[in-house]
Amino acid sequence: MTLADLKAIVRTVPDFPAPGVQFRDITTLIGHGAGFAAAVGHLAGRARSAGAQAIAGMEARGFIFGAAVAVQLGVGFVPVRKPGKLPAATIGVDYALEYGSDRLEVDPDAIAAGTSVVIVDDLIATGGTALAAAALLRKAGASVPIALFVIDLPDLGGAERLRADGIAVDALMQFE
Ligand code: 5GP
Repeated sequence: MTLADLKAIVRTVPDFPAPGVQFRDITTLIGHGAGFAAAVGHLAGRARSAGAQAIAGMEARGFIFGAAVAVQLGVGFVPVRKPGKLPAATIGVDYALEYGSDRLEVDPDAIAAGTSVVIVDDLIATGGTALAAAALLRKAGASVPIALFVIDLPDLGGAERLRADGIAVDALMQFE
């Protein structure tokens, strides 16, 4: 499947989660066997080229793609979780949202110091989530050479923010 084929399988849901927002919904992509496999295959090829020694994915949609990529590469998966979900000692980082703030946590035992960890998520918008995840992984001793996304919304500037922080960015498709 071409990347254009994959883009055609992503559904756009108007006015979710708020009026005026065009939500790019990957439910239809992961529900399409060949489409899901192709998306994971493209992401895995890019993660392999970047020398990934582990994959990190953000709760919850980043788990779907990130875990599949990790299995393809035969490397470990690091769940980057919402607060209060992990049972052992965690490290966390707070980050600003458009309205309010949020927090991400990881279990440092899931990351060996010096590991090259590639971030995988379904979508990058402002980049706030991915920047927070990268800060957390670095705090745990990892390096983060690249972040991979199924979808980039370039108008929101997230990829530029990650690049300014020294993280390469790649995505399978863009939506205006
Ligand atoms: P950011 O932090 O880059 O502004 O937002 C990206 C995060 O919000 C990602 O974890 C992503 O799952 C979620 N997100 C924001 N907008 C959308 C959207 O239109 N579609 C999907 N699938 N996720 C979104």
